[in-house]
Amino acid sequence: MAHRGRAATRRGCIRAYAVSLTALASLLPLATPAAAQSTGGTSPGAPPSAAPRLSAPPPGVVVRPAPQLRSWRCARECADAQTATTGAIVRIRGRRLGRVYEVVFLGAESPDDDVAAAPLRRKKHVVDVRVPLGAVGGPLLVADHDGLQSAPSAVALVLQPPAAVMVAGSAPTVEVQAQARRAFYDAARPAKMSYVVHSDSPATVVVELLRAKDGAAVARWDVGEVAPETQQSVTWDGSVGTRVAPPGRYAFRVSAVSASGVRAVSAQAPQTPEPNPAEFAFLTHEFPIRGPHVYGTGAATFGGGRGHQGHDVFAACGTPLLAARGGVVQFKEYHSRAGHYIVIDGERTGVDYAYMHLRQAALVRAGDRVRTGQLIGYVGDTGRATGCHLHFEMWTAPGWYDGGRPFDPLPQLVAWDKTS
Ligand SMILES: [Zn+2]
Repeated sequence: MAHRGRAATRRGCIRAYAVSLTALASLLPLATPAAAQSTGGTSPGAPPSAAPRLSAPPPGVVVRPAPQLRSWRCARECADAQTATTGAIVRIRGRRLGRVYEVVFLGAESPDDDVAAAPLRRKKHVVDVRVPLGAVGGPLLVADHDGLQSAPSAVALVLQPPAAVMVAGSAPTVEVQAQARRAFYDAARPAKMSYVVHSDSPATVVVELLRAKDGAAVARWDVGEVAPETQQSVTWDGSVGTRVAPPGRYAFRVSAVSASGVRAVSAQAPQTPEPNPAEFAFLTHEFPIRGPHVYGTGAATFGGGRGHQGHDVFAACGTPLLAARGGVVQFKEYHSRAGHYIVIDGERTGVDYAYMHLRQAALVRAGDRVRTGQLIGYVGDTGRATGCHLHFEMWTAPGWYDGGRPFDPLPQLVAWDKTS
């Protein structure tokens, strides 16, 4: 089912843990060649044709069922029940909707046109969402705080172009929408924002990226002259100057000056109860296990037992493993103790990230460039492993068994787990 596979490739912006077994099954099309192409980094031909079967989840793991989207209809500012324009309110009905984090407007086949919006209101059986700028007609799905996704809706949303709202001579306004609520550094898809200048004439546009905690502008795009009532977009690769931006909340701001010199700035009205559509979370790593998991203790911790050089995280065999940080694959090998393992030299970190006991050989090859959040394999118990788990190591520069030293990855794992 194409939509399901495509939705599952949105791994740059969905959360990782406590995935139910049914939801995991829906993630498995990640391994289809079409999905792999959309990541821009998976080596061609590598993904297996057969999806791995999940083992029983390890003890202590909370398995939650995914939200269900049963039906939806356009509720306000609609042409009819299935036809809307940007800004209309769609009401979704279903089950387990109380923890919905975002509604994804899937658009057409490509994942590049997916746009996610925060719910305006959510209850156990109902979610309201405003149709975001940049959305393209197509099915919808809901995703919860754990990254669990519903199946795409059977009925596709039909989007009509908005009516020209501009009255000649009135002041210009700007509408802004971030494409996703989370963006990861070095992910296959960078942070993207769409905007429209409502004006009766072309306007000169400047886009800024603001750090939410203090409002400081950390990046700027001098776009130049932009046609009114035409959707535009800007992407951000996560850099500030020559550095990677620190993780945190950011928002785009668009300023437009009309030919007559009137200035408009996209800004949320104070006391607006709605989530700011221009704001998103920027993260430098994604938690590497997409599924229910539990942290090992004792000998499974860093330095535990006799010189354990990483931390073990237990999950059902077959649970998808993602690259916590993009980079170049340094090693992909089999070892009698480590089993199938892979070492990735993290892009612009100097740190090597090692993943061990994979269920089978990794889906990427030595020398491949992988992206943050890219599927690299599945949790397993190859080599000397008791119970299915990821043995995860982090090594300082210059690298893994190459002059670097291992350090405790647990604080980082826990931090990524909370945010990604
Ligand atoms: Zn271990």
